[in-house]
Order: sequence, then C-alpha cells, then structure tokens
Amino acid sequence: MCSIIGYRGKGAAAPVIVSGLKRMEYRGYDSVGVATESGKKINLKKGIGRVAEVNSSAGLDALPGTTGIGHTRWATHGKVTRANAHPHSSNSGSIAIVHNGIIENFEELKSSLSAQGYTFESETDTEVIANLLQKNHDATGSVKEAVVKTVSEIEGHYAFVAMFEDGQLAAARFHEPLILGIGQDDLFLSSDVLGFIEYTDDAVYMKDGSFAMLEDGKFQIFDFDGTDTSYEVTKVSKEFGDAYKGDYAHFTLKEIYEQPETVMRAGEKTTDAIKTAALLIRNTKSIYVTGSGTSYNAALLAKQILSRYAKIKVEPIISSELPFSPDIIEDDSVFVAMSQSGESADVLEAVRIAKQAGCKIISIVNLTSSSLARESDIVIGMNCGPEIGVAATKSFTAQLAVLYKLAEQLGGQTGTDFGGISESMLEMLENPTTIQQIAGKLRNVSDIYVLGRGIHYPIAIEAALKLKELTYIHAEGIAGGELKHGPLALMDSGVYVIIINPDDTTYSDTLTSAREIKTRGAKIIGISNVKSDVYDYWIEIPSTGEESYPILEIVPVQLLSYYAALEKDTDPDYPRNLAKSVTVK
Ligand code: GLU
Repeated sequence: MCSIIGYRGKGAAAPVIVSGLKRMEYRGYDSVGVATESGKKINLKKGIGRVAEVNSSAGLDALPGTTGIGHTRWATHGKVTRANAHPHSSNSGSIAIVHNGIIENFEELKSSLSAQGYTFESETDTEVIANLLQKNHDATGSVKEAVVKTVSEIEGHYAFVAMFEDGQLAAARFHEPLILGIGQDDLFLSSDVLGFIEYTDDAVYMKDGSFAMLEDGKFQIFDFDGTDTSYEVTKVSKEFGDAYKGDYAHFTLKEIYEQPETVMRAGEKTTDAIKTAALLIRNTKSIYVTGSGTSYNAALLAKQILSRYAKIKVEPIISSELPFSPDIIEDDSVFVAMSQSGESADVLEAVRIAKQAGCKIISIVNLTSSSLARESDIVIGMNCGPEIGVAATKSFTAQLAVLYKLAEQLGGQTGTDFGGISESMLEMLENPTTIQQIAGKLRNVSDIYVLGRGIHYPIAIEAALKLKELTYIHAEGIAGGELKHGPLALMDSGVYVIIINPDDTTYSDTLTSAREIKTRGAKIIGISNVKSDVYDYWIEIPSTGEESYPILEIVPVQLLSYYAALEKDTDPDYPRNLAKSVTVK
C-alpha cells in the first residue's frame, strides 16, 4: 500500500526521502511526490509512475532544504492523476501533507470547508486534511492545537505527515502504520522501517491515536487530546533493511529460491512462543484462524493440518468478513491471526473484534515489530526475512512450516522432516526448464483451473491466486469432487487445468477427475511424483511422505506463475492494482 515519509535533519531532505520511497516501493503504488521546506517556503513536485521515472523527469531529489515529506500513492479517492498525487497543499500553500488511508467523512468536511471559501484541486480525501489543518492553524496559531482539533474532526483510518512552512513536521496515526526513526542528527517518519533503516535502527512505533511533533533534533509525542504520552524506543532488526535482489532478476524469483532455507528457519526464533501457543490452544473452547489473501489460504490449511495431526478443530475466517458476522466468535476463545506484514487493515480489524469478545490473540507474522505483533498475546515469527514481491511465496511456505511445528507441539506426529523438504525443494528448483516450457504455452490462455482434493484443495486455491496475481489470467481452485457440480461445464480445448496429485489417499480420485477433464479437450498439467499418460505436461515433484506434499507442491506453481508473467510481459514483483501490505480497508 502507499508509503509516507518525513525527514527533518541536518542533511539534504529530498535525496533521503527519494531513497526511502524506493526502498518501500514493494508496498505498491501508482504515483509519487515530494515536498521540502527551504527559507520558509514549500517546494513540491509530483507525478504518475515509478519513483525512478518521476525522479528523473521531475527532479524530486533536487528539491532544496533539510526538511521534507514524500509519498507513494495507492489511489482510493480519485483517479491516478498528477493532481491527485500527494503531497497536497492547503489553500494558502503554507502546509503540505502526505497521507495514507481513508477519511470516511471527507464529503461532509469538504462541503463545509467549501462553504467557508476553501477550494480543492484534487478529488482526494487527503486535501480535506490539509485545509482543515490550515483552518485550525489560522484559528489557533498553534501547530499542536491545529492537529488536536483536526484529528477530532476527521473519521476513518489514516496516518499523515504535515509540513508547515516554518519547517515543523506533525504526524498523526490512527489505524495505519507510522514509525518514528531517531538518528544522530536526524528524525524520520515512515510507514515502514525500510524508509529509514539505512540511517538508524532506533525507532518508536507510534501507538494508535497519537501524534508526533518534530523540530530541530527534538520530538514530542501526544495523545489525540494533546496530553504528553509515553513511548518506547525499540531497536529494529537490520535484517529487514537487507532488501536487495542480488543476482536474481526479480525479488519474486529470489524469494521463491529462498524457500529451501526459509522453511527450515520458520518459527525458529520463537520456539517458546510455539510451545505457549500450543498450551493455550489445548485449553480453550474454540480456535479461529484468520488471514487475508494467501494468509487466508494458509488458514484453510491450518484446519487440515491441525485436525489431521493434532486432532484440533479450528475454524478459518476471512478477516474482511468478520465485521459482518462477529457473532461467529465465541467468547474467551483463541484467535490466531496470520499476516506477513502484520499491518493488513482487515486482519487488524478482525483482531480487534476477537479481542472485544475476550479472545487471546496468537499471531503468526513475519514482521514481529508490526502492529499485529503488538496487538498479540503470543507472537510466532515466520522468520523468513523481507518479502518484497507483492505475491506471497516464501511467507506462505513459512506459514505452513509453522503450522506443522505447532501441530507437533500439540502432540501430533506429523513426521515432517524439514531437512528433507528443503532438499526436495532444492531438487525441484534446480532445473526449471519444464516449467519454463509450460509457461510459454500459457501466454494466450484465458482460463486456468487448479484441481486438488483434501489437503491439496487449499493449495489449489493458493495456486490459482498466484496465477491471477502474477499473470492476470483468470484462475480458479476447484475441489476435485466439485468438478461434476459445475466446473466441468467450463472445460474445453481453450482451458488449461493443473492437477495437484501426489500419490496419497487423494491420488486415484484425482486421476479420474483429470481423465474426465481431458475427455472435454482441456490441457492437463499434472503436478505429481507419479507420471501418467493423462497429463499433457508433467511437473515432477520428489516422492516424499504425504505430510510434505502441501509445502512442496505449491513451489512449481509459484515458478510457473513467475515464468508465465515474464512470457506475458507483466512485472512479477509489482502486479498491477495490487499492494504488498494492504493497510486500507
Ligand atoms: N486516500 C488517499 C488518496 O486516495 C490516500 C491513498 C493512499 O493511502 O495512498 O489519495
């Protein structure tokens, strides 16, 4: 999702801001802008496109001054245009603002401000904050009073940084991430530690409903009513600053190839948390597992893994659905929330609902300093390092690995050997030629189905999600037995069907489904350790115990999606319209 950044220090602000925005590119965006203050005057440049493009055409990093703000926008209110790109200025030009999130009552505020003579140049909700701040600043003569008044008037989910023409920065946070970085001579504000990790690893994770004011090397943090509030300075992990592609063409490819190592490492730094989580789960009435996108697919697998190996029943919940059926949650239960970033707005909202019902929160999260981690009673780290590619790959297999480890703590004999899984993954990744050839066939295909049974059905759903995200081809996961209840009507010679079919208890029924599909002319891609004449294309996976197949069989589909994206000339790291960390509802 969008990124906001602020800098006040001794050095030139604009280059720091531009490099911070570049490091946060993975979050997804459509336009970019920077504003700086010099000589009590605000300078502002912005445009549509990638940070590097807009920087070279508009010279963002050449803006003068030692104080500034920057933004990459992921449009929610108003089209992707230069006028809608941030920063936005207040009418007088004395305040510039960058904002992440949504102002829900912006229409009322806009009409009221318009009636008072304020004009608007963009369609965004953000411009309302700029003008409200100006109005409240003009009325009170105080930046602090202006912020207190403004946050009491706006409703929604937001984080913003406002820059005043005297160089003061004010930054507020409500249900969107905002982190303050404390350097030797500089102060930073950012949506993500990557925005300043090059310069400092001392950070304050601002609490919800608080705002910061920054002046020459000093900062203060207040609650929304203006009272001083306590804060903690945390050391952030430098590991998350290590976000470089190395020799790989794309982050996504690098992250796929990291999996032999990351499945071994999953949960490793938080083994005690896995033990405590198991105790809690054993002694509770009901267990829910929630997530969005790939993490929800992992929640579907949690149901399969924990019931099969630990005889524990869990209910998977799509995070964004919970607000509409909160009564699903029984009081005083355990609520497991999964999220790579730990900043997904839907997951955080679901956690709030569960907390209200008195649930204990266990999170399985990659960024253990995230908002989700801080909301949790027990935090299990995926421990898979920064995942920059928008489509989740290594975080998914890390989630599965954690779930197997949790099942074992719960007394289940999963028989999973992560060393063996790691070696099998290496074997599959060693020679991607077959997958590259199949990817070439998918260039003009408009529909792909992925079929699996039992534990392989959620993998089929996740596989379809990868294909959609990376290739923009319509893709759907099908539970094998459901084929005859509808999807068979869609099978014809234009369709490709991926059959997830290792030789476990699902094998023969799934092979029968493949034959039924083949009769209708569709092309079959079999993912299996056993070859069959029914497959037009066979992607071989190593023969392992059945407990290892789910983690293994997703890997070839990740690779296939990646290579098909290259065939289709789409950008695998930054799929259109998607964002890595979906921090707005
Ligand atoms: N709602 C604002 C807009 O549409 C901010 C979106 C964002 O978070 O990037 O401009």
